[in-house]
Amino acid sequence: MRHTIPAAALAGLVFAAVPAPAQTPPRLVLPIQCRPGADCEIQNYVDRDPGPGAKDYQCGTRSYQDHDGIDFRLATLALQRRGVAVLAAADGRVLRLRDGVDDVSVRSTGTGAVEGRECGNGVVIGHEGGFETQYCHLANGSISVKPGERVKAGAAIGQVGLSGRTEYPHLHFTVRQGKALVDPFAYGAADGACEGGQSLWHPDVREALAYKARVVLNTGFATRSLDMAAIDEDPEAPTAEAPALVAYARGIGLKAGDVQSVTLRGPDGAVLAANTSERLPRDQAQSMIFAGARRPAGGWARGRYTADYVVRQGGRMVLTRSFELTL
Ligand SMILES: [Zn+2]
Repeated sequence: MRHTIPAAALAGLVFAAVPAPAQTPPRLVLPIQCRPGADCEIQNYVDRDPGPGAKDYQCGTRSYQDHDGIDFRLATLALQRRGVAVLAAADGRVLRLRDGVDDVSVRSTGTGAVEGRECGNGVVIGHEGGFETQYCHLANGSISVKPGERVKAGAAIGQVGLSGRTEYPHLHFTVRQGKALVDPFAYGAADGACEGGQSLWHPDVREALAYKARVVLNTGFATRSLDMAAIDEDPEAPTAEAPALVAYARGIGLKAGDVQSVTLRGPDGAVLAANTSERLPRDQAQSMIFAGARRPAGGWARGRYTADYVVRQGGRMVLTRSFELTL
């Protein structure tokens, strides 16, 4: 109970400091049923730069102007179609929600189509201490909770969709305390600062969410040349009869000046195909590369085919992933 004392009554008195009510922030579990590093990754962090331009909490490039949450991106659209649950990040009570927004990429409809509904189908959950978490871009009709309902940390509340202002399947996750935006990677960091603050993530997920300047989102093999949309469809792996063997990779968070390469080797270790990109002219949210070879006259040799994806900056290796296919 707080008593109000007229200001005049305080004159001439010295009070011991009264501690503010405890505002212990919630510990957050992963708000999406996926495995960072395997089938999902963080695409964007909170923008901590108050001015024009953007900085993530490590003073890196993995954010964009005024981005107010964390984007957990699924590796493919195929995965989203199979169904990936969105989870309550902490115990709480559902405050409000929206459903009924179509699952359509704004790449085809334009951003005007979702004006005022940028979050798409979304849920807001209230937690102790005046904290709220918000979940955006859920699949139309997938929300499985009601306003007023109590939820436990980790409980499914809906599924990842493609509603609102989004071009790829992801969960946009925002944390607030009252009206103030909270960066769950840097709670309490000075306003506008990158670096400092405390992680609100549960210790069990901190390693999986460790910051990476660049990340591999996809690697794989296909039977023909491909583009981003084809990668999102999770192309079928080649068989021994495949007309061509193509190794591909997609990286996110790549920087201006980065050079990507991919090399495909046959069972005997000989290079079958290799491709090196131009230096990236600017930072890129996502970037892909592939290299492939046509089936030789005698068919594919049986055995293990290996591929190496490497990103270099100024000749220095900054990201690498090896992957393989057995025919
Ligand atoms: Zn977002």
